[in-house]
Amino acid sequence: MAHTVCRGIVLREVDYKESDKILTVLAEGQGKRTVKAQGCRRKNSPLAAGSQLLVLSEMTLYDYQDRLSLKETATLNDFRGVREDLSKLALGSYFAEVTEAVAEEGVETPGLLSLLLNSLYALDKLGKPPELVKAAFEVKLTALEGYEPMVDACAVCGKAAPERPRLNLSEGVLHCAECRSELGEEGISMPLDGAALAAVRHVTGGDPKRLFSFTLPPGSMELFANAAESFLLTQLERGFRTLDFYKSITV
Ligand SMILES: [Zn+2]
Repeated sequence: MAHTVCRGIVLREVDYKESDKILTVLAEGQGKRTVKAQGCRRKNSPLAAGSQLLVLSEMTLYDYQDRLSLKETATLNDFRGVREDLSKLALGSYFAEVTEAVAEEGVETPGLLSLLLNSLYALDKLGKPPELVKAAFEVKLTALEGYEPMVDACAVCGKAAPERPRLNLSEGVLHCAECRSELGEEGISMPLDGAALAAVRHVTGGDPKRLFSFTLPPGSMELFANAAESFLLTQLERGFRTLDFYKSITV
């Protein structure tokens, strides 16, 4: 039996029994944890605020025989601007589902919690274009998982600035359109342009605190967005229900 206090954000909430929830929480220093929030759906429950999807709070967790329950919460950021806007909420839910999919139970993935929080903050307060935040999140998360795309130069001829650059999704490498046949492997390559390639390089190699500090003309943004999403889905080898929903309300 022990109490721990940590920052945690709710990635998933499932109603349980009459007034409880089972939460999936990304907790600082602990990775993904399953936490029971007893009575949190009761009117005036002190656990109500901190037991909601995408709310960051300081959580007091009670550990009994490896089962965690939530004893107290103090809200640190409820990302209200995200949770009260349907398309931002849909995008935030996608961030949460992807994070839950890659997070390890009980083990922290360095950078994962701050990527999620920074992405939600960028949607909530910074007024960044959602498609830019989404694409930067997708590329950065894939990199944090160990699948950072190799985009310094064409993997075949070594040219640092390919004229018609493409990103090979399964290999995670950059190549010139002309070098495609030399790459050997099967699989899809997505087209980039100079600005979209610069964006991929900024996200993978730049200062994580300045992850969203760039702009792109519309055509380049579309290339970056398509490549980022396809790259993440290819590398994680799955789809996301929340992504389908986000697309159904934004396209
Ligand atoms: Zn080349």
